[in-house]
Amino acid sequence: MQTYINFGLIDVVGKRYVENSYMTVENGVIRSVGSMASLTQEQKQGAVDLSGKTVMPGMFNCHIHALSSPIAAPESLNWETSGMFALRGLRHLQQQLQSGVTFVRDMNGRKLAEVDLKNALNQGLFVGPNYYIARQCLCMTGGHGCNTGRECDGAVDCKKAAREQIKGGADFVKIMATGGVNSDTRPEFSQLDLEEMTAAINEAHRAGKKTATHAHGKAGIKTAVLAGIDSVEHGSYIDDECIDLMLERGTALCPTLATHYFTCKFGVEAGIAPWKVEKGQRAAEAQHIGLEKAWKAGIPVTIGTDAGTPYNPHWGTFMEFVLFVEDMGFDPMETLVAGTIRSAKVCGVDDWTGSITPGKHADFIVLGENPVKNIRTLGHVEQVYKDGMLVSLPPIDQSCTD
Ligand SMILES: [Zn+2]
Repeated sequence: MQTYINFGLIDVVGKRYVENSYMTVENGVIRSVGSMASLTQEQKQGAVDLSGKTVMPGMFNCHIHALSSPIAAPESLNWETSGMFALRGLRHLQQQLQSGVTFVRDMNGRKLAEVDLKNALNQGLFVGPNYYIARQCLCMTGGHGCNTGRECDGAVDCKKAAREQIKGGADFVKIMATGGVNSDTRPEFSQLDLEEMTAAINEAHRAGKKTATHAHGKAGIKTAVLAGIDSVEHGSYIDDECIDLMLERGTALCPTLATHYFTCKFGVEAGIAPWKVEKGQRAAEAQHIGLEKAWKAGIPVTIGTDAGTPYNPHWGTFMEFVLFVEDMGFDPMETLVAGTIRSAKVCGVDDWTGSITPGKHADFIVLGENPVKNIRTLGHVEQVYKDGMLVSLPPIDQSCTD
């Protein structure tokens, strides 16, 4: 058993910062958490002293594309073999972990290499974050995601497509409700319809799997919510009607602010196609207003960056937290809750990770500062523990975008 002492704890369940805390970990599982005052001198023997540090649960990133490289035109690598995708994916997942992210959800893989990657991690061949995959996203013929996803049309085919993903190892099902920014489609326009989405979602739920939808336009968001989706990804053009409907149904929102942020920051000068930058800017402007309303209304909001889109690096999850606090003006503690226990709930994994709670996996990070006071400290995570093991990977070169 290992004991950690003298740290400030971010308690995401109680939504508070607790000074002078300790924690014990045994066989990768948190055994106890409490105040230093309750520890005997004997129990402090051989403990890891984390004086001056803050401990919080590992960050979540509910929306990534692990196999996609964050270069100006990620799709330019689509000719590569599945082996190369798996190797790139491993590098990206290790960047996620090293930067303090202990759980990621992959929203659409490449050539099914994500299945091998997941199996390799689960077999312990490599160190990586907890990795949940959608396998292929479900999209309409010619729709957003069709270059790498499973095209499906009509309720029967959508049901079959969902079954194929589950049979092939998907942990959840991803469905495309609208066009997108990074393809030759219109984000405002709907794609798969109510009947098609309902068929796929019902199938996923019957297998005990969560569902997520790529949706920018409000009509697509409404369709997905009515069809029973668990989380809306992006939600750029969300309006009052969507918010009311989502509140009524308990639907979550993963805004992925980072994708528009990085696209606009690097822009055309860095080689991103002008039409992608233009669509990204428009979506970002609309999103700012809608997200503020959704947050205030009490929609369960999660953290995800869409890493793998142009210049949106796999070590950059902290930027979503920074954008929540600095750009949106959201409360820092509520932001930390969104990116840990709430994300865990939406992904259906809160029974074993997402908070520093006895009985859960010891997935936590050590910070030099209290992130409630300085959210940017999440960009300089000092130590990462997964299943109680200190992660030892090469330091991240933040000048490198891949
Ligand atoms: Zn995405």
